[in-house]
Amino acid sequence: MRRIETVAALRRYIAAAPRPIGLVPTMGALHAGHISLVDAARDDCRTVVVSIFVNPTQFAADEDLAQYPRPIDRDLAMLRDSVADAAFTPDAAEMYPPGFATTIAVGGPALPLEGAMRPGHFAGVATVVAKLLLAAAPDRAYFGQKDGQQVAVVRRLVRDLHIPVDIVVGPTVREPDGLAMSSRNVYLSPDQRAAAPAVHRGLLAARRRYVAGERDRAALEAACGQALAGVREITRIDYVALVDADTMAPWEGAGRPMLAVAVRMGATRLIDNLLLDGD
Ligand code: AMP
Repeated sequence: MRRIETVAALRRYIAAAPRPIGLVPTMGALHAGHISLVDAARDDCRTVVVSIFVNPTQFAADEDLAQYPRPIDRDLAMLRDSVADAAFTPDAAEMYPPGFATTIAVGGPALPLEGAMRPGHFAGVATVVAKLLLAAAPDRAYFGQKDGQQVAVVRRLVRDLHIPVDIVVGPTVREPDGLAMSSRNVYLSPDQRAAAPAVHRGLLAARRRYVAGERDRAALEAACGQALAGVREITRIDYVALVDADTMAPWEGAGRPMLAVAVRMGATRLIDNLLLDGD
């Protein structure tokens, strides 16, 4: 596996690589969720490039940029094992050289939920994803349903800017007890970790109501909220929102209903979602 650290070297590599090329953008601290996307790319593509870049512009000043785990040697070993062809591991100065002054602001699906809780987050995401797509020029780019709003934002970005890439979405990979895998799960204390599957239980409770025929948005949100309400380790519920999976607007009965949840356990935020029609 090649390790590539500059955009110029990535372009040279891409120019000679057999197509189709698949790109899996990540922030590292890889787990089975990321590897499922690498596996999907491996199945579809002749060249698989995985980027590892903890993107500073998608973190607010009070967020966990400094503490975000960066086990680069372990990540590279996992990518070797999953037979990726190249790891693109630029540093912040390579991606954002002095004088960098361009930001892509997505409206629409980027505005509610995480967009409201984390101002500037999706501008950082959209800007770095656009840069990665322009640098790697992949035929396909792979994202996880775990970050369902990010999927909607990236799809809109690619459509609005006519970026010639297919966006492929992989299902959320979970721990055996239902907790969605996340690089941030290492922040949880043992008690918080034991309580964290409540989020998935809430999502499943709402899905059961949906499958039984419930179509009232408030009732479906409440079914999930009830499962979270009694959990002492959940110190705040940021939102429980049933939205249209493509627009992120409140679900009105058409389109694909996505139930999105964000909770805090002390300083750690957990986000998760379920497509009620099936993942
Ligand atoms: P991150 O490193 O958190 O930026 O995630 C990189 C990619 O992996 C994103 O497209 C995520 O949605 C995806 N991802 C993260 N966790 C999971 C998971 N548990 N299951 C599937 N995909 C995931």
